[in-house]
Amino acid sequence: MAKILTITNQKGGVGKTTTAVNLAASLAATKKRVLMIDLDPQGNATMGSGADKHQLEHSVYEVLTDQSSAEEALVTGLPSGYDLIGANGDLTAAEVELLQMPRREFRLKMALIPLLERYDFILIDNPPSLNLLTVNALSASDGVIIPMQCEYYALEGISSLVGTIDKINKRLNPKLKIEGILRTMFDPRMSLTKDVSDHLVEYFGARVYRTVIPRNVRLAEAPSHGMPALQYDKNSRGALAYLSLAGELIRRTERECSGETVATEQE
Ligand code: ADP
Ligand code: MG
Repeated sequence: MAKILTITNQKGGVGKTTTAVNLAASLAATKKRVLMIDLDPQGNATMGSGADKHQLEHSVYEVLTDQSSAEEALVTGLPSGYDLIGANGDLTAAEVELLQMPRREFRLKMALIPLLERYDFILIDNPPSLNLLTVNALSASDGVIIPMQCEYYALEGISSLVGTIDKINKRLNPKLKIEGILRTMFDPRMSLTKDVSDHLVEYFGARVYRTVIPRNVRLAEAPSHGMPALQYDKNSRGALAYLSLAGELIRRTERECSGETVATEQE
């Protein structure tokens, strides 16, 4: 049964898409069966996974609006090692169309049901906003991964995101929880980075991943070649960091399945 994880933060440029693509590739490299869903009309996760957003036979827009099944929209056989349901500009229309549809917050959740046995992990990349698309992602998910850049304004907006997750948890999806906080584009030479990082650990405790993602040029270059860093330069610090994150995520998941709490890893 797939574990569904939403990667979100309403701030743009914090590393959501980079995390979605590289975590998906790393999980796939450890032989997990992975599906990535691109929920951002910009289609960056689609392109970064090696699919052409302009050539999709069916996109997530059609899945959400009942014009295609999730199965029909699957892009398989990508060199990145995981399957994809892609997105492009069509998705901007979905937000408005969804408003008129029955069970509008649950469209994605319902669409994914037939695929749950086929994958170990389903990762959802999100637009930099908290809109009906994000609500669909949160309603469908078991957990949320929040990438954060350790800079001065990082914590701004985080309380509204935590508030939204809380509301969804109470009203729409009782199993939703914060899976982990991921420090991205980390530069330990900056003292501010360390201060913000300390604040995050204070606020979120053991939910902050031990793995930090360094600022690494390979992670920034790989998308223009339509591949995760693991394919572009498998020995780069960026690729190795995301492999380490995948390991941490798998260990946490296994421990949770066996009934232990995450707190044990930090002790
Ligand atoms: P988001 O999806 O949150 O908007 P992206 O993942 O697209 O953020 O990242 C924003 C920009 O920063 C992109 O150009 C990306 O290549 C770059 N980037 C992301 N993470 C890193 C990193 N760890 N090191 C260097 N560049 C990064
Ligand atoms: Mg993005």
